[in-house]
Amino acid sequence: MLVRRGVIDRVSMPSVNKPGMTRAVLALALLVGAEGCWRTVRPEVSGNVDLAPPGAPTVRLTYLGVGGWIFEWGDEQILTGPLFTDPSLLRTGLAGIRSDTAAVDRGMAPYDVSRASAILVGHAHYDHLMDVPWVAKRFAKRAVILGSSTVRNTLGTWSGLMDRVLVVDDSAGTVEKMGRWIHVTPGVRVMPLLSHHAPHFEGFTLYSGTRDRPMTREPRWASEWLDGVTYAFLVDFLHPDGSVAFRIFYQDAVSAPPRGLAPERLMAEHPADVAILVPATFDQVDWYPEAIVDDLRPRWVLLGHWEDFFVPPEAPTRSIRYSDLRHFQRRLEAVHPGDNWLPDIGTVFTFPAR
Ligand SMILES: [Zn+2]
Repeated sequence: MLVRRGVIDRVSMPSVNKPGMTRAVLALALLVGAEGCWRTVRPEVSGNVDLAPPGAPTVRLTYLGVGGWIFEWGDEQILTGPLFTDPSLLRTGLAGIRSDTAAVDRGMAPYDVSRASAILVGHAHYDHLMDVPWVAKRFAKRAVILGSSTVRNTLGTWSGLMDRVLVVDDSAGTVEKMGRWIHVTPGVRVMPLLSHHAPHFEGFTLYSGTRDRPMTREPRWASEWLDGVTYAFLVDFLHPDGSVAFRIFYQDAVSAPPRGLAPERLMAEHPADVAILVPATFDQVDWYPEAIVDDLRPRWVLLGHWEDFFVPPEAPTRSIRYSDLRHFQRRLEAVHPGDNWLPDIGTVFTFPAR
């Protein structure tokens, strides 16, 4: 490995939980953390990015903003937890928040995800789970929701979706241990990877903790959407003979390596075709993205969850001010010679399958 195991093992993994903090203090901390002095960055691509030669079998990845993506291979569709409700920073810190179903309807209107067999949710913060119930009930009616027990318990009895959550806690792999493949359909398998949620700023992680009992009412505050154990996912689209046509690594939060890495043995057999990495808050941990790129050896890297989601969806897409995105890209490009993209919301990538 590029980053020697001994070095990684010494990387401290901040696990900060201050349950006693009041909402007001959290809001203030969030405001301070978000007001970094970095220049805001605009998307580098929009519309269609097509890398497939004519006639080649293809895989499509569509960016929905924040943690949301649609992965498509033939008739197969996989969705990852999107967010279309974009409450302002002040509202998120100081007032109640809930899913804006009209905003979700507008956000999902361009897409048909009725064939989606799964919705992947890496952690249960509101920006990854709050809009999932409406998406699952209205648009992706057949999809199973893959996530932690905290995801399941946060959706609880109020959402009517508990039975559609497949808890992945016992299936997760690590860099050293193979996880269990979850065969979502004959053409798609998913392996959860034990990951981690980097602090938002100064070693402090907002809304940290697990939820061990099902909620009986809808969460009212951002602070009720606790992250739970965080997972990354490998998604394999399969040929009819079971061979891998395309492998996607998906992550919805920065992780401190070795958390978030995929089993080395698996990656030696078939490196990732696409890795979806998260630039915001990368500077809160060590060796991100270097260790993850070394582990996955992806052909292409897409950057997700990079834009400011405290502004209305119609506002021009611009970077969140937690972190210096250009610094992230310089570090990424030092270890990843292939292409990487910072996409606008709605960008569709078409890649050739193997
Ligand atoms: Zn989060």
